Amino acid sequence: MDRVCVVTGASRGIGAAVAEAMARKGYLTVFCYDQHQESAEKLVRKLEAEGFRAVAFHCDVGSEEDIIGLISYAENLGALEVVVNNAGISESGMLQDITPAQWHHVFSINARGTALVCREAAKGMIARKSGRIINISSMWGVRGASCESVYSASKAAVIGFTLSLAKELGPSGITVNCIAPGVIDTDMNKGYSHEEMDELIRETPLGRIGLPEDIAHAACFLAEASFVTGQVLTVDGGFTL
Ligand code: NAP
Repeated sequence: MDRVCVVTGASRGIGAAVAEAMARKGYLTVFCYDQHQESAEKLVRKLEAEGFRAVAFHCDVGSEEDIIGLISYAENLGALEVVVNNAGISESGMLQDITPAQWHHVFSINARGTALVCREAAKGMIARKSGRIINISSMWGVRGASCESVYSASKAAVIGFTLSLAKELGPSGITVNCIAPGVIDTDMNKGYSHEEMDELIRETPLGRIGLPEDIAHAACFLAEASFVTGQVLTVDGGFTL
């Protein structure tokens, strides 16, 4: 039976790098996309041309129906062994300027979406008594970020959720861990000016911002580690030290 990996938000950025790394590790990998179908399909075609196995699948993690459809699709491909909850959005601004609708939207994607994907994926994993769940949080969820309170709170929620689920699913042989990336070079950070980027680099002991591949390495480690659960693996070049 095929070993299947699902990565949400795999059309670009961190998710694309994680999904590519998982496909190269031999998982039949489901590249989930929301808006950028062509980008996900292009990555899948590239990997297929190299002999790796991957498929693109639409899933808006804001939709419970989409999530149920995604996990059912993945379970039909084989045994769903690894799930990476990567899809996420950011929202910045002073607390006074953030509307309840914005709070709801960020939490519905970053926190509720992650929880629902875990709920659906855990069903098959519990039955097989094996599985790896990797949730992408953020260093801002650990440390807090000015003018990013809603984003930071949603990412802190992912951490609390991960720790609880690790306890709940441990007896079923399932590990649940978080990665807390630092500043990674993706579209999400394109709002930073050159000066702000330089300042972030200066504050990073390793003297650079991260690449999506840095997070992919960490995800591959957690996918293989059988005795690591309930951990928050910070991958930030030392920024939060
Ligand atoms: P990105 O370049 O903005 O890409 C976001 C990804 O999430 C895209 O693939 C997008 O899919 C998907 N997505 C957005 N809304 C979605 C929805 N409703 N349903 C399903 N997929 C959705 O972001 P990134 O920098 O790679 O970030 C990936 C994750 O890492 C996020 O959870 C983010 O919070 C976290 N993170 C990033 C950084 C960083 O510095 N970049 C740092 C810490 C944590 P489509 O394009 O197909 O719509």
